[in-house]
Amino acid sequence: MTDLVIGSGLSGVSVAMALLNRGRQVLMLDPGGRLEASAQDRRDKLAASDPDTWSVDDQKIWQAPQFDTPPGQVRRFGSDFAMVPGAKTLVSPDQIGLRASHATGGLSNLWGSAVLPNRAEDIADWPISIEDLSPHYRAVAQFLPISGRQDDLQALFPVLAMRDRVPLNPSPQAQQMLQMLEQQESGLSDFGATIGMSRLAVDPGCQYCGQCLHGCPWGYIYSAQKTLDDLRHHSAFQIRTGLVHRFEEHTDHVTVTLDNGETLKATRVFVAAGVLETARLLLASSPEPTTSLQLQDSQHFFLPSLHRWRVPRRPDQRPYHTLPQIFIELDDPKVSPHLVHTQVYTWNEFYAHDLINSYGSKLPGSAPLWRMLARRLIVAQAFLHSAHSARINLTLATDGRLASTVNPNDETETVMARATSRLAQVMKLAGLAPLTFARRPGDVGSSFHVGGSVPMAKVPSSGQSDILGRPKGLSRVHLVDASSLPSIPATTITFSVMANAHRIGTLTL
Ligand SMILES: Cc1cc2nc3c(=O)[nH]c(=O)nc-3n(C[C@H](O)[C@H](O)[C@H](O)COP(=O)(O)OP(=O)(O)OC[C@H]3O[C@@H](n4cnc5c(N)ncnc54)[C@H](O)[C@@H]3O)c2cc1C
Repeated sequence: MTDLVIGSGLSGVSVAMALLNRGRQVLMLDPGGRLEASAQDRRDKLAASDPDTWSVDDQKIWQAPQFDTPPGQVRRFGSDFAMVPGAKTLVSPDQIGLRASHATGGLSNLWGSAVLPNRAEDIADWPISIEDLSPHYRAVAQFLPISGRQDDLQALFPVLAMRDRVPLNPSPQAQQMLQMLEQQESGLSDFGATIGMSRLAVDPGCQYCGQCLHGCPWGYIYSAQKTLDDLRHHSAFQIRTGLVHRFEEHTDHVTVTLDNGETLKATRVFVAAGVLETARLLLASSPEPTTSLQLQDSQHFFLPSLHRWRVPRRPDQRPYHTLPQIFIELDDPKVSPHLVHTQVYTWNEFYAHDLINSYGSKLPGSAPLWRMLARRLIVAQAFLHSAHSARINLTLATDGRLASTVNPNDETETVMARATSRLAQVMKLAGLAPLTFARRPGDVGSSFHVGGSVPMAKVPSSGQSDILGRPKGLSRVHLVDASSLPSIPATTITFSVMANAHRIGTLTL
């Protein structure tokens, strides 16, 4: 019998790597969603030529589907293959921004690729320490490309060594911001702020074609599919299509039932189905009378600013990338006892598009004005620790979907307001005019930094898991995606999910 991994996303490939390294046989299951052939053809056509030879129409066709998504849906490559429409998973999809994936590679086909490990202090109350995770961050960093450079952020996150890494070239606006902020060291420390270049899971061979938010034609933005391609060459690894419906644990094995009624037997099951699908599987399978699960969110907000300075070249002309450019970490107990993590985005095509859509019709002929304004816009996206964020209650509806209700957190607004005014001070140091009146919170769950529904505990009680991600009452089923994280620190979630999955795969007997 083999170990069975449910899901081929970032947590699935991380646990599979660890199991294979220990000589185990691994069977991975996922529903197998893939980019449709027509979208793949468009992608291949772009990738076959130099971005400087792309026509305006080529780019318009590539970008148009992303400008036209239903609420809550994130689309890349002109396709919805990587995100299940909300109504398929959730009874009331408009209540939360979180969505599931049924794609090979999962949500990593869509993600922003920002990576940071946890800061030791932010997980001081976890049953595992940063020392327990460190070797696994390092192991994951062997197959996850991480671009960036050694800078002040290193002191906060010593676990992720940046020496010898190659940074992406920052956009002209980010270059200017970094220069100004680097001259303001004492001002920054007065505000409890540390800044540095973003750490991104992007191959530094990047062509700077600016299509990051539409789907990288070459796949320079890492997705789990890259590691899967390597795993497929491993003789002890198999992957097959299958949507898991439920599982049942027995003394010496686990039986997994697929939605077509087929059953499979495994020695152990590692559930990496993404937090919504994992919740659905658990609620449908749990031997304990579990009737509801509670997801912890890391809520986020957007703070727009305008820059006063001139940039050496137009920000909307290649070469550039549109992923997060700069990270700002706020570390001040007057704001939060935990880090507030911020990602700074400079020019991208959505700025002008959204401004013209929102205000253009009220002022006919004003499109050039909004385009000009968009070239001065910089947006900071800030994330809070789950201690300050809402929770999402999930139960299983009779039709098999999840019914969700949001439990708001009384602290969210206060901490967001404190973080906004502190961030505004930092933005001013960078020569920006922060538009604090236009600060916009994201919907609950829409950060996709969500988990902790069955948090790990040293001595788990009902609704918790042990430090190998096994829900109380189960000994052969391990939750290896974000479901078993004890809390959600503000720093990006996925690198820690991957390290934890790798840790569980390494330590499980
Ligand atoms: C737009 C966007 C931007 C993001 N940006 C960032 C970022 O910059 N930094 C960051 O840290 N995180 C980011 N995230 C979050 C990140 O993408 C997720 O944390 C990560 O991809 C989760 O990986 P996972 O493998 O645990 O789950 P998923 O990616 O959800 O993968 C689940 C896998 O399980 C399979 N599956 C699902 N249900 C079943 C079933 N019933 N049976 C069998 N298989 C099943 C799916 O096909 C898939 O292969 C972002 C997310 C989105 C959507």
